[in-house]
Amino acid sequence: MMRTRLVMLLAIWTVAGLPTTTLAGERVKLTGYLDYRKGSFLIVDAQRVQVGTNTQFKGNGRATSIQTIPIGYEMKVKGMRLQNGTVAALEIEARRNGIGSTEKQIVASTDKAEKTWVQAKQVVEPGPDGKQVSMGALHDSGPQVERARKIVNRILPAQVNPMKVRVYVVDNKEWNAMAMANYSIYVFSGLMADMDDDEMAIVLGHELAHATYEHSRRQASKSQITGIAGQAAALGAGMIKNETAKSAAQQATVLSVTTFGNAFSREYEDQADRVGLRYVYEAGYDYTKAPQLWRRFAAKYGDQDQVTNFFFGNHSLSTKRAAALEKEIANNYRNPADLPSKAPK
Ligand SMILES: [Zn+2]
Repeated sequence: MMRTRLVMLLAIWTVAGLPTTTLAGERVKLTGYLDYRKGSFLIVDAQRVQVGTNTQFKGNGRATSIQTIPIGYEMKVKGMRLQNGTVAALEIEARRNGIGSTEKQIVASTDKAEKTWVQAKQVVEPGPDGKQVSMGALHDSGPQVERARKIVNRILPAQVNPMKVRVYVVDNKEWNAMAMANYSIYVFSGLMADMDDDEMAIVLGHELAHATYEHSRRQASKSQITGIAGQAAALGAGMIKNETAKSAAQQATVLSVTTFGNAFSREYEDQADRVGLRYVYEAGYDYTKAPQLWRRFAAKYGDQDQVTNFFFGNHSLSTKRAAALEKEIANNYRNPADLPSKAPK
């Protein structure tokens, strides 16, 4: 098996014209979407993927060959990491990104939360005693919203229609932001006050990646909804009068709370860092500020394993997080195969 793979890799080097000394030999499995096409490279899970003549392919829908995979299709890639960071693909699988029942429920629940907040002109969450707690006034216009909107539009990947995206600012002094599965995005005024546009792009890129990479749906289908989320859902559903709506909302609220309540697994937080950084890079913002930004968050909120912050979520220690990003930069951006999609900001 090992020998076969090595022979295949040799064929790939010939195609790519890379010297044999570039082999790092790390086996890589990527699960994500086709983020971009950059010259002859595919960008999947934010990684630069090189296709060879021996790369095996499986696809459906419009993905009849590697060349025809549409941006935004779900991707699985198996390959080897070369020393320059590129992943030489041995196998590629591309599938249409359909909408299942879990996703429909999640979008419905986030639509409902958004509508409630817009009507109340504030973001509310069920507190531990069941009472609704306000997180701050909600704004959908004004200079702060315009600033956030401009950054979001710039980092938005091609498969997301900007018309589908809403951007809100929440009056709250904390450093926080969130993108829900229905592409409503909430940015705290405290974050806006203390971050420059590059740093805002890094935070918003991370949040946006949770939405584009469908982490709510993936997490829900992995049945990782916790007891805490279930409890909060019951409190939320208790406010609904109609019985039928109540049971439908109960499930939906669980998912909504999952979205809002730092419940993403560490794996998804790492992926959001990785993919968010790619959005920042392609938009021409200064992605090199990312590791330092995590240290700033750590200095403000403490370098704990879990911090009550959407951006932090269930994340690795910020030191680990910064180190992971340094590795991302070395693998994908230090010797860029081509320039960012947009001119530097
Ligand atoms: Zn996150």
